[in-house]
Amino acid sequence: MDAPQDFGFDTLAVRSGTARSDFNEHSEAIFLTSSFVFASAADAAERFKNSEDYFTYSRFTNPTVSMFQDRLAALEGGEACIATASGMAAIMSVVMSTLQQPLKLGADVVMHSATKFLDGQGRVLGGALVGSKQFIMEKVFPFVRSAGPTLSAFNAWVLLKGMETLSLRVEKQSANALEIARWLDSHPAVNRVFYPGLESHPQHALARRQQKSGGAILSFELKGDTPEQMRANAWRVIDGTKVCSITGNLGDTRTTITHPATTTHGRITPEARAAASISEGLIRLAVGLENAGDIRADLQRGLEG
Ligand SMILES: *Cc1c(COP(=O)(O)O)cnc(C)c1O
Repeated sequence: MDAPQDFGFDTLAVRSGTARSDFNEHSEAIFLTSSFVFASAADAAERFKNSEDYFTYSRFTNPTVSMFQDRLAALEGGEACIATASGMAAIMSVVMSTLQQPLKLGADVVMHSATKFLDGQGRVLGGALVGSKQFIMEKVFPFVRSAGPTLSAFNAWVLLKGMETLSLRVEKQSANALEIARWLDSHPAVNRVFYPGLESHPQHALARRQQKSGGAILSFELKGDTPEQMRANAWRVIDGTKVCSITGNLGDTRTTITHPATTTHGRITPEARAAASISEGLIRLAVGLENAGDIRADLQRGLEG
């Protein structure tokens, strides 16, 4: 596709970045190869010298990974993208490759944990950084090339397929999340609901300006007189579910439920948890594609107990 800026987001998500091999395959090929062969010693020397322009070794560049990078850059409207093995590898790569003064750079890089909505089906880990060609290729690429937090070709292919349904999934999951958030907001066992799509959220207006929806993730706090009671109430709701998955990932087509205070945020100090409003009664729900009524009924079991 020559002029990606002319196409809508949904078209770019399905069609941008595709680079066909000589076999003219319709779906993107998975290039599971660690290295690429050269016609001669001189050819090898030339390609290694300009390794960002050629395929030489899959720690540096790989055709399937390149397709993922090009598709994500098109979706973000960025000039260049480097994919990494995980979201944490993306964070490390941007910090390590800039001598650690990101503020001086003026927040000009987009960081993705592709593990979340880009895959969207809980299958692989992946990360990516999108920014200007100069920043990505002159700063980040040399670090990723040498340190090796590279995305695998197989994971790049899984992510390419995931991105084709990104819009549909996020729209439906966000609609489900809004329905569940509204229901929880009026539930007598619930103290408060954190969801930017709710009019009562302090940053609702900001979210309306910056986002198409409130997103698929919400959290809610259960009532309870003591922290111990709040934790018991939260665990009862979590253990009462039969549809939701008790797991730490988010952005999956399947609704996931987590108790942040004892899992994802269990290692930070109680003071830091309090500062982030993560109480013992808080439950995080990453809403999936199931019927929203079924998820409500799944939560209701523990809420009425
Ligand atoms: C998931 C996540 C990460 C970590 O990404 P991984 O792909 O699990 O390495 C970092 N920051 C935020 C905000 C995340 O949601």
